[in-house]
Amino acid sequence: MARTPLTQPDFLPMTRAEMDALGWDCLDVLLVTGDAYVDHPSFGAPLLGRWLVAHGYKTGLVAQPRWEGDAADVAAMGRPRLFAGVTAGSLDSMLAHYTAFRKKRSDDAYTPGGKAGARPNRAAIVYANLVRRAFPGLPVALGGIEASLRRVSHFDFWSNALRRSVLYDAKASLVLYGMAETGILALAEGLDRLEDEGGLLADILAGLPGAAFSLKPEELPQRFPQADVLTLPAHEAIVADPKRLIEATLALERHVHQNKQLAVQPSGDRLTVLTPPGAGLSGKTLDALYALPYSRQPHPSYKLPIPAADMIRGSLNIHRGCAGGCSFCTLALHQGRAIRSRSAGSVLREAARLVDAPGFDGSVSDVGGPSANMWGGRCRGDMTSCQRPSCLTPTICKHFSVDQGAFVDLLEAVAEVPGVRHVRVASGWRMDLALADEDALGRMVRRFTGGQAKVAPEHQSDRVLKLMRKPPFAVFERFLKVFERESGRAGKEQYVVPYLMSAFPGCTLEDMRRMAEWFAGKGWRPNQVQCFIPLPGTAAAAMYFAGTDLGGQPLFIADADAERLRQHAVLGGEREKRLAGQSKGQPDRRPDRRAPGAPAPPRRDAPPLRQGKADGRRGRPDTRSGKPDTRRAATGDKRGQGRKPGP
Ligand code: SF4
Repeated sequence: MARTPLTQPDFLPMTRAEMDALGWDCLDVLLVTGDAYVDHPSFGAPLLGRWLVAHGYKTGLVAQPRWEGDAADVAAMGRPRLFAGVTAGSLDSMLAHYTAFRKKRSDDAYTPGGKAGARPNRAAIVYANLVRRAFPGLPVALGGIEASLRRVSHFDFWSNALRRSVLYDAKASLVLYGMAETGILALAEGLDRLEDEGGLLADILAGLPGAAFSLKPEELPQRFPQADVLTLPAHEAIVADPKRLIEATLALERHVHQNKQLAVQPSGDRLTVLTPPGAGLSGKTLDALYALPYSRQPHPSYKLPIPAADMIRGSLNIHRGCAGGCSFCTLALHQGRAIRSRSAGSVLREAARLVDAPGFDGSVSDVGGPSANMWGGRCRGDMTSCQRPSCLTPTICKHFSVDQGAFVDLLEAVAEVPGVRHVRVASGWRMDLALADEDALGRMVRRFTGGQAKVAPEHQSDRVLKLMRKPPFAVFERFLKVFERESGRAGKEQYVVPYLMSAFPGCTLEDMRRMAEWFAGKGWRPNQVQCFIPLPGTAAAAMYFAGTDLGGQPLFIADADAERLRQHAVLGGEREKRLAGQSKGQPDRRPDRRAPGAPAPPRRDAPPLRQGKADGRRGRPDTRSGKPDTRRAATGDKRGQGRKPGP
């Protein structure tokens, strides 16, 4: 039975005193997060916390608990009645902590004062251990991007190893993958019911959307007697043959996209079972979620500014999902390719609230999402039988529909909200979609770029772009022409900021040089170049691990640090060039160095994590140090991590 919604507090409680002030004697749900608490819908834990409160569940939040010694921070508000939800935060903690060259970062945009060190490596595992120590027997649900992308066997760049599902290292009850509003609410309702009626957690897991959990093989037919089962290659089979990670990843992409099957991966003597992700939130429910009274501020207990909070203060997130399916991006497996959009009315109401928020200076810094101009996009075909890994490449699918003019109408309407002086689109634009309606693109260029348009051609080689599942380079060239023409019409000096990538699987030093020559020929020196990081769960990580393209053909992989640095230095700054120079002739420290084109050696299976040693704060870091990309801070869960703002 549905519970009565609770009055929304100014902030979710973080202490026992704050619970007392609300008259809450005990929590129903405790959320533990690796980010500082910023009460803004771009942050997953606060959003889910307010969502649960809106459905009658008293929810408290522990942000960045200390993890050494006892579990006092996690235990501070007492044992919750139903379960604890654990997230590493808006980024995978390893990505947040280490650069593309595995150097330790010195800052963290999600932490007061922007300082690194407030959360552990592999935070989902470490926090789950803390919760189990504080509250033995309490169900623990992992969520957020770290757990979501590590829900089955995955390649882990930072240990250069295949790791099994995070479920096992964390000893968690389940993972709620993707955007977890429906899953977390169903879990709360299910456990609530069990309290009254009796029964086991295992009795409700099968009914949760977007859940991953472990079963004994003999339990499968009993729990899922009628299920249409998609069997992924076993963890051990992938260890024996890295190419099978490609098979597993492509199957998992289809599992999320088609949303109809139960997926199962054998792992040791267990099965990792994944329920379909579910229908996702309807537009009306999404509107209701964003209408909750977020203060848009950091919790008042923080004395130092939180960089990520400053970056998102003036932004409006208008949709979820990305139809692109780029092979390096985590979005396809996390949010999925189906676009879920808020209504224009909901966006305008939030813009009006933004005007009243403390510190608002009249500028809406972003109206966007994973890819700004996909707002309102939808599939007119049958997604449940769709076999394509992308709606947009190699060509835009005839069933994909999006109205670019409606998006620009929305921008114009936001600009008309009293108190709003400027509106910008800081999220990346999908160039192929924008070019499908040059009239709308012209309106965008003339009024909403803020002088700079961030787009992501990613590379100049069509061969590499195909491996990335990106459109050919000619699309970028066409976009440039329209951009220049329309900027001229507006009488504005405006710039395109192209985001590019080095060291992608299949990319050679020669490919990088040709790209640099193209830009140099235009008198252009791009400075937004990111060295490829194989992120857990992505198709590109599977290629990197297997040493082949997605069809199984051998591929050059720049996997040695020296080669990665050399590629990066071609378009990088002086620092990269210096480092690349220094690396010449030095032995690569990585265990799997191989000659270009040589088959990939088998990578080792990852050992179980030992908290507090290799990965704990006291232990030696497993890589070197470096700086974070704070551009990522503004994006939260809304786009693929470890990459630039462009789609
Ligand atoms: S049918 Fe086309 S538009 Fe629909 S999901 Fe498949 S690729 Fe995308």
